[in-house]
Amino acid sequence: MKRTRPLPLDLRGLILFFVVLSVLATLCNSLIVAYRVQRDALIHSALEANSAYAAKVASSMGVFLDSTHSRLKYSAEILAAHWDDPLVLMAESSRLRTQDSDFNSIAILDASGKVLQASSPALRVDGLKLASEAAQQALKQRRPLISPAYVSVAGHLVVFISQPIINSSGQFLGVVGGAVYLQEKGALHTVISNHFHHEGTQVFVVDVNHRILYHPNPKRIGEVLKSNLLVESALRGGSGAMAISNSQGIPMLAGYAQVPDAQWALVAQQPRDLALAPLGPLMLEMIVGVIPAGIAGFGLILAGTVLIARPLRQLSAAANQLAAPDTTAQLLRVHAWYRDVSAIRQAMLTGVQLLQQRLGRLSHEAQSDPLTGLANRRAMTTLLDMLAQTEQSYSVLALDIDHFKRVNDTYGHDVGDLALKHVAEILKKNSRASDLACRTGGEEFTLVMPDTPIEVARSIAERIRENVAASEAPQAGKLTISIGVALRNDTTSTPDALLKLADERLYRAKQNGRNQVIAHNV
Ligand code: GH3
Ligand code: MG
Ligand code: MG
Repeated sequence: MKRTRPLPLDLRGLILFFVVLSVLATLCNSLIVAYRVQRDALIHSALEANSAYAAKVASSMGVFLDSTHSRLKYSAEILAAHWDDPLVLMAESSRLRTQDSDFNSIAILDASGKVLQASSPALRVDGLKLASEAAQQALKQRRPLISPAYVSVAGHLVVFISQPIINSSGQFLGVVGGAVYLQEKGALHTVISNHFHHEGTQVFVVDVNHRILYHPNPKRIGEVLKSNLLVESALRGGSGAMAISNSQGIPMLAGYAQVPDAQWALVAQQPRDLALAPLGPLMLEMIVGVIPAGIAGFGLILAGTVLIARPLRQLSAAANQLAAPDTTAQLLRVHAWYRDVSAIRQAMLTGVQLLQQRLGRLSHEAQSDPLTGLANRRAMTTLLDMLAQTEQSYSVLALDIDHFKRVNDTYGHDVGDLALKHVAEILKKNSRASDLACRTGGEEFTLVMPDTPIEVARSIAERIRENVAASEAPQAGKLTISIGVALRNDTTSTPDALLKLADERLYRAKQNGRNQVIAHNV
């Protein structure tokens, strides 16, 4: 089976990665939703505001037109009563013209269209017939009228507001009317600009022919607009709001309404971008508002992650050295505060104990002599290497049973083995916990004694020799041993050199007659 290589990430990193990823995703999603909701709310409120604004301005214009009609009607009544008095005609015309700034000029026509009186001498139309369509309409329809925009004989773009003159017997005498010059600042401008303009909202008014009667850009007054959904709806009497693009293709939020009594459409529109301008600061405020909670949340996540991952990290460290002697203690120190970690730790503790038991048995088997239970030559070599590395001082005893061949020859090999065990027991009894007693050959033994001066080593050797000589080996009876003693020093710094020296002294003990200890050179 192919083994996949693990990612170079620990549990804490992984948890953090996924939690932070999901938190960021949630945050982005909330911000997007918040952005959309805010944007739709802003658009909705801008449309509402523009719709209300259009209705209000249109209604004010209606009131204005209504009041001009009333004034003309009042004059028409006076004119009807004094139709034959040119002085009254002149006075009425001049009063209408100068009373306020509603009209730029006044004309009184008889039933045939002949100009009886005009307020402005500049017109020079007295006595002429007015041929304009507005005048013709007013004469024909004989009712209060507001004309579409047209260019007057004097070259002004005007709308003509008129009232029929009918005498007490119901006879139609003529028409009194006032012209409003659209390209000059007049009452119409005042009515519109009197209203509060909110952020970037522009108002324009068109007549039934789509000709612009009012526009904030005076150059556009008189221009004929292309057909446009808003204008059409307003001209049909509708009112409301919609999001559209203007003639330059700029997205607009527009309200629209019809001006009552006149077939005029009024549009109040605001660039969409301008209406949405508060969106940026709003979003910034939201993001800034989220930051403290975000930092606190991130801190909590971090702390939680550390708490969850720490025991697992400790278990993972212990898992890397299951055979080490302090692994059990290390595992017991892990704070297993939740179930999974506790279960893993329990399993690891059991595993470590089993492993260490097996390792201990193996090492014991590998390092000890099966017959006597003493350490074997391999264990001794390991210890001597360690002592050599740490440059520790130590002494060694080389021991050999005297005439052992005879024991074997006389009592047999099994009795010989018992004798070997007997000597091993004496060796064990006479060695300290820090010493290492080994069976290094057939009936040869070595005792390694760390931190032991030569004199101390010699006296221990003497005691061992005496013990052996004084005791009786099972079935074999009396035995003696010879011992060579050596201390590590500058000339015998390696284990081999020291063992060789001890062996040489043992050899001399044999030569000198056995059952003795030699701890020095000749
Ligand atoms: P010396 O005083 O010079 O040491 O004489 P020795 O007879 O002890 O001579 P040597 O040390 O050469 O003889 C070792 C004898 O030990 C040879 C062998 O029969 C015996 N021997 C070695 N290993 C064992 C063992 O495991 N069990 C038994 N019973 N005898 C062993
Ligand atoms: Mg021997
Ligand atoms: Mg011997």
